[in-house]
Parts: sequence; C-alpha cells; structure tokens
Amino acid sequence: MNSAWGKHASGRHYDGTGRPVPSYLEEAFCTRAQMEKWCARLGKLRATLAGIQLHQGALWLDVPACQRLLEQVGRLVVDAMPFTKCACSANEMNCEHCKGQRWVTAKRMPGRLGEVVASK
Ligand SMILES: [Zn+2]
Repeated sequence: MNSAWGKHASGRHYDGTGRPVPSYLEEAFCTRAQMEKWCARLGKLRATLAGIQLHQGALWLDVPACQRLLEQVGRLVVDAMPFTKCACSANEMNCEHCKGQRWVTAKRMPGRLGEVVASK
C-alpha cells in the first residue's frame, strides 16, 4: 500500500496512486476510510475468535470455517473500496468502469490502472 495513501493531517484524502483526491470524490473516499476502519475491527474480531477456540465451550465451534468466512467478507469490502478516479470524463455517464461515479476500485480496472495514473 502506498505510504501517501489515506487521509493526511491536512484533512485531504489521497488515493491509491498517492495523488490528492479531487473534491468531487471526497465523499467516496470518506466512505473508503470508514471501510478501512471496519476492516481493522474485523481483524480484531478474527483475533478474538482465535482466542475463543482455546476454551472448552468452543468445542463445537468450527473456527477455521468462521475465519474463512470472515476473511471472505473482508476481501469483499477491500475489493469494493474506492482506489482512484476513473480515466473517463465528467460527461461519460455510462462508463463501463465506474458507471458514471468517476472513481474505481483497484480490482475493477487492473488493465487500465496505468492509463488512469498516466492521465493525471
Ligand atoms: Zn469512468
């Protein structure tokens, strides 16, 4: 993950390429920050579950299955996080990559990522 990524002390958000988030995408990247916090809490829950399995009352708890499911949930959230602005223009409402939202996830356009970075 890029060290410039996230919200800086200045209050500005930076995207996954290390560039400041345009003002029209601030709300989307605030949501990303919430998703990151949620994932951190999920990580703590997974650790707690690992501790619970050591107790006698957890004999019938399938901890590995629970851990796999929690990991899948976390991956779904990570894959849905805003990554950077889309390479499309403001009037391209039917963009196949962002569906007119003007931001993309890292996973949604791996083939165009270099193109997005180069267009800034
Ligand atoms: Zn787009």
